[in-house]
Amino acid sequence: MDVSHLMAAKKKSVRKWTPAKSEELYGFQRWGNGNFSVDSKGCVQVQPLGDQRSIRVLDVIQEARAKGLRTPLLIRFQDLLRQRVEQINEAFATAIREEKYDGTYRGVFPIKVNQMREVVEEIIDAGEPFGFGLEAGSKPELMIALAIHYDADSLLICNGYKDEDYIRLAMLGSKLGKKIILVIEQASEVEPIIRIAREYDTVPVIGIRVKLLSQGEGKWATSTGDQSKFGLNTSQILNACHKLREAGMDEALQLLHFHIGSQVPNIITIKNAVIEAARFYCQLARLGFPMGYLDVGGGLGIDYDGSRSNFESSMNYSMEEYARDIVFNIREVCRSAEVPVPDIVSESGRAIVAPHSMLVVEVFERITKIDESLPPKPDNKPHAIVDELEHILKSKRRYSQLERFHDALQKKEEAYSLFNHGYLDLENRACAENLFWKICQNIEEEMRDSAYYPEELFDLKKMLAEQYVCNFSVFQSLLDHWAFNQLFPVAPLHRLKENPSVNAVLVDITCDSDGKISRFIDLEDVKEYLQLHPLNDKPYYLGVFLTGAYQDIMGDLHNLFGRVNEVHVFLEDDEDDGYYVEQTIRGNPISEILELIQYKENDLLRSMKRQIDRATKRNLVKPRQGTRLLDFYEDLIRGKTYLNIDRETKKKAARKRTAGKKQR
Ligand SMILES: *Cc1c(COP(=O)(O)O)cnc(C)c1O
Repeated sequence: MDVSHLMAAKKKSVRKWTPAKSEELYGFQRWGNGNFSVDSKGCVQVQPLGDQRSIRVLDVIQEARAKGLRTPLLIRFQDLLRQRVEQINEAFATAIREEKYDGTYRGVFPIKVNQMREVVEEIIDAGEPFGFGLEAGSKPELMIALAIHYDADSLLICNGYKDEDYIRLAMLGSKLGKKIILVIEQASEVEPIIRIAREYDTVPVIGIRVKLLSQGEGKWATSTGDQSKFGLNTSQILNACHKLREAGMDEALQLLHFHIGSQVPNIITIKNAVIEAARFYCQLARLGFPMGYLDVGGGLGIDYDGSRSNFESSMNYSMEEYARDIVFNIREVCRSAEVPVPDIVSESGRAIVAPHSMLVVEVFERITKIDESLPPKPDNKPHAIVDELEHILKSKRRYSQLERFHDALQKKEEAYSLFNHGYLDLENRACAENLFWKICQNIEEEMRDSAYYPEELFDLKKMLAEQYVCNFSVFQSLLDHWAFNQLFPVAPLHRLKENPSVNAVLVDITCDSDGKISRFIDLEDVKEYLQLHPLNDKPYYLGVFLTGAYQDIMGDLHNLFGRVNEVHVFLEDDEDDGYYVEQTIRGNPISEILELIQYKENDLLRSMKRQIDRATKRNLVKPRQGTRLLDFYEDLIRGKTYLNIDRETKKKAARKRTAGKKQR
């Protein structure tokens, strides 16, 4: 068969691949909110402020590398963080202006979503003109908030379960003149709050978290409703009001709070909750409590897959729509109840911090199913089953794809059974497996452009996907993907002018089979592989985007990899395309991780030394070699936990091998 025209067509389509095609394929415009794009060289660039100033991610990676920080690398774009703080404040300001709303917006950042000092400080700084405050959900978070909150006018909201020390800590803040609001989350918190307020001779500002019946969709839907572990139900609220009144603390009650869970995909959920909460608010106001604030919690989503749908990794509304719906509905309820409108508090965490950070991982290896170097048949004694598989491979013209697939499946099963009974040797088994995958590959290639795809062949692409091994740990850096199937956009950071001809899934370096990314964003539903570039002998970097919320702190120590290297990037003020790396943070060295689980570096070194001395005495190692071994152990324990990807040594070894072959 003359395939030259096919080859030519293939070449042409390869040549025609463009950065614009990559931009479309990976969806930068859809999920990027104007902050991510592909430049003419095929590299991903970030526009932290959404304007023409851009930073090429590859440049940052190279600069970090020059400072000794290799991948996995977390990059924070601090300006993007600022942009998000401004966006949410402006969204509410616009809604308030357009709806002629009488109250103001008083946003707070919930520290739990990203506690990193540089992140919280940047948010406080960017939020200062808007009086943007903080929210704490635990004692340690409140300790952070008290220390770094300096604007006496911005709010400091205290949520979460509270013991007496937590309450005292909040009183300490009130004493300092801070606008602290203690939100009653449990009925049992009312009495200690009253008692401790008396102790401190102060009347704190109190809020009540209401357990709404409006229930949403999404992964965190159980944050509301009868079964929720948060908030007070109606009779508990009445009870709390009664107790406050009895204690002469009526004027303390000023805020009503609700939180319907994170990443709410459907705007209808939000509208319903706001309406229900606004009713509660009005009822409390009519009971004679001063009120003044309605806190709508978090829940504002991130459109991770860019589909603008009510799929759980997406959202069917914009930030502007969110703000408008909240403002509008509160106004309407208050108007009908003839109650003055409250100031609106929101506690958006995810929507503010998710976009600012990205994870860079390096692919250093691929696991394929087909071994191109293997001969189709063993040199001696090919088994009949191998002949049969080879026959299927060559019978393309005669049978349909589906028929060949069925035949191949059956032969593969037969081959395994022959092997298990001792009738097939290793070489024949290797050839049978290889042939099976080649048949599947052929079928998949033939089907690629066809209009009709039999259902049984749907999975072929997934089955044939290569595994790209990346230097990172899902358990450390993408816990939400592992735990909740949360999707994140993933894309190569360079080579985007080239055709991504390889379907692959990503696997990490932990010894765990679910340490992988095998579900990817897609306009419809979920994709089970990602189109990537063939590996060459240069580093191949992938970016995982929108990772700044929750991920940063949730990571665990599975396989003891620990935190990754990190750089914080700022735009340079007086240059068009300039940026600088202000902060570099090294990932945990092995010794630090071991310390967390009670292994002291010195104890380990001492034990190793003892064993090496003993081995020296028994003449298993020479004294000089023993010293070297101990030095090596000592160097490593202070070194990095992640893989040290050394391309130079690999290349040298490859050169040696070919040189050796030539000599022979
Ligand atoms: C987690 C949490 C938030 C933040 O929610 P996001 O969906 O990330 O904005 C806000 N308020 C409370 C009470 C929370 O527990």
